[in-house]
Amino acid sequence: VYNFSAGPAAMPVSVLKELQEELLCLPGAGASLMELSHRGQVFTDILHGAENSIRSLYGISDDYAVLFLQGGAALQFSMIPANLIRGNDKTAQYIVTGSWGKKAIGEAKKEGNIESIYDAKESNFDHVPSPGDYKVRDDAAYLYYCSNETIQGVQFAQAPSCPTSVPLVCDASSDLLSRPLDINKYGIIYACAQKNAGPAGVTVVIIRRDLLDHAPANLPGYMTYKNHADGDSMWNTPPTFAVWALGKVARWLTDDIGGLAAMQAVNEQKAKLVYEVIDANSNFYKGHAKPDCRSKMNVTFNLPNDELLGRFVKEAASQDLASLKGHRSVGGIRASIYNAMPLEGAEALASFMKDFASKNG
Ligand code: PLP
Repeated sequence: VYNFSAGPAAMPVSVLKELQEELLCLPGAGASLMELSHRGQVFTDILHGAENSIRSLYGISDDYAVLFLQGGAALQFSMIPANLIRGNDKTAQYIVTGSWGKKAIGEAKKEGNIESIYDAKESNFDHVPSPGDYKVRDDAAYLYYCSNETIQGVQFAQAPSCPTSVPLVCDASSDLLSRPLDINKYGIIYACAQKNAGPAGVTVVIIRRDLLDHAPANLPGYMTYKNHADGDSMWNTPPTFAVWALGKVARWLTDDIGGLAAMQAVNEQKAKLVYEVIDANSNFYKGHAKPDCRSKMNVTFNLPNDELLGRFVKEAASQDLASLKGHRSVGGIRASIYNAMPLEGAEALASFMKDFASKNG
């Protein structure tokens, strides 16, 4: 079955097989990884291996800490402002292009001064702004945006423009590891794992080290980035299974796929296949995102009516194309085609869509 779920999402089959083979007894360890202390050498090596894979995929310098945290991407909505603006009079600025940005700004407002400098809600979050559409203050505590809005299926092709004095903060939950990026542009970039990077339960936070020192002293320990950086992501017990699996996914990306540029090429090919069918049948399929803002990860579109929509989902499922129903807030169809979706899956979906439109259009 090809699984088009938005997350938790499909995992690379070879990684699942390896996990299965090693689950009962990790080779050389005499026990399951789940039974081993996180302080022992075996897990410490696994955690460092996962960190090194991510560092080498992106060429991340030692100016950045790479953290493995819990609490999902959602905890970052609070941790970022709590570390950078709680207890001071600085202002953080937000660009809101979809549901996750909206949720993030809602949480951030509980922590301090927040300014929304662009909000695409008037057009039902169907696009991202051009640099001339917003103004970033030179003294902003940070500029926040979400690179790929998973629900609406809109994606920034490039990071927003941001003065060098302002740390750029990015929720890349649904597109980290899907394409190359220059990490040096970012103050913080983070992603929950359950889309492109592994199972739910771990969130990767890449943070420039100078930002570790801004937290107020009375911030709860878990919320304080510096504790995790100083403690090598072991300030408390990390999610050992999820880190183990994430490390394997990162290695799969390097060894089997050939790195982020190669992954991006495949992802673009998959997205093109599906968008081409939407464009060729534009009297039947209506894409949600404006064409220049279309996500390469989540393809969102609607059908002429609810009856056809229901039939599309049902008939697709009967052909082993699963989890295509869109998020309740947008409706329609959402096909998530993350890293682990093989090209054949996108081909099968495109062919089903063509066939469905010609029979019902
Ligand atoms: N941000 C984005 C872009 C997401 O897609 C999601 C989840 O789908 C989240 C944040 C929230 O992630 P979590 O459920 O891990 O907190």
